[in-house]
Amino acid sequence: MSNSSGLVLQPRQKFHQISQVNLLIVTEENDDITRIIATLEAAGLNFFYEVTSACESSFYLSEKVYDAILYDYYQTAASPLDKLDWWYELAPNIPLILITDILGDEVAIECIRSGISGYVLRNNLFKLPDALKNSLISSTQKQTTQLTKIRQQQEYIKQLEQEKLSWQAAEAAKQELLSHLHHELRNPIAAIIGFAGMLKDEIYGSLNPRQMQYICAIASSGEHLLDLVNDYLDLAKIDAQQETLYPEKLAVEEICRASLAMVQEKARTKGLELILKLDRQIDFCVADKLRLKQILVNLLSNAVKFTEVGSVTLQVEYQSQMLAFAVIDTGIGISPDNQQKLFQPFQQIKTSINRRDKGTGLGLALSRKLARLHGGDIQLTSTVGKGSCFTLYIPRTLKEQVE
Ligand code: ADP
Repeated sequence: MSNSSGLVLQPRQKFHQISQVNLLIVTEENDDITRIIATLEAAGLNFFYEVTSACESSFYLSEKVYDAILYDYYQTAASPLDKLDWWYELAPNIPLILITDILGDEVAIECIRSGISGYVLRNNLFKLPDALKNSLISSTQKQTTQLTKIRQQQEYIKQLEQEKLSWQAAEAAKQELLSHLHHELRNPIAAIIGFAGMLKDEIYGSLNPRQMQYICAIASSGEHLLDLVNDYLDLAKIDAQQETLYPEKLAVEEICRASLAMVQEKARTKGLELILKLDRQIDFCVADKLRLKQILVNLLSNAVKFTEVGSVTLQVEYQSQMLAFAVIDTGIGISPDNQQKLFQPFQQIKTSINRRDKGTGLGLALSRKLARLHGGDIQLTSTVGKGSCFTLYIPRTLKEQVE
């Protein structure tokens, strides 16, 4: 048998629904132990038990895991809950049943609220086996719920990891496809353009008018295809977050003049005036040279393309924290409805100009993405029949970072 400080381990037989139970009985009264054990045995509970006093219970709880604790409490000045620090600290998940004399109403309610699994009055000790059984069942249910939750969380984590792996595999495949396309598409197109050019220049013999017409069509279709592939691959690269900018300190006037030079011939042929208005305080900016020029040339080519009379102006000024490059034309203008769509890939307004001089429909989408990669943007204002103003903004602060 047991005493209050000793360790007793005794097997007991039969308790139908619940298999062997490990109990810790915390008491100061040896007589009570005998009654408690007898009551549980009478109910056929299959159990081991160990007995300890409240002050030594910490030692037992730190050494071993119990299925339940029976706390044999005698009312003192302190509430039973004040004497349960050892349980709260070491084993709050182990169901605890209080065996006590009649408690005041308030104390009883306090006990029920505190998280103990049950309490049995000493003069109703016959209720102990049922109270214990219920506590064990609800504790097992709690554990099963917790286990299910943990399993679900583990499943979820596993699923996330798998998704991450397949996302990484998809990204790797996309990168491979992009660089593959880069070579596989650009190289043959460059060959088509090159060979068509040689034939057009009649290096290997003269062509009849029909042959000349067709070879010119091959060359210009090749160039169109190359533009399309270049723009499309650039867009895909930005979307795959593979596009890297190489910002450097650039002379703003120089980059503006170089961009205007690219459209000069076309503007001259159409009789359009090309104007540069550069605010005097603007000298340098920091941007990716190739990409900045690409955006400006795209906006300027569009302005020239969609303007029949008048002018195309490139006006550069500071607007609060931004450097603003406005490309202003006196062309056909764009209706508010169409203005919403233009920055989406492959959006072209049905105009006679577009039918005649077919672009890729990717220029504005790409330009805006490149502008945003710089930390800026492109905005549009336009009036049908009067003209459009596309403004590229890039941050001024980049300048200070490099200097
Ligand atoms: P692309 O010019 O190659 O067709 P963009 O993305 O550069 O492709 O332009 C998309 C469409 O936006 C053009 O087809 C045209 O309908 C319209 N657009 C662009 N710039 C202007 C402009 N300055 N004036 C009028 N329409 C414009």
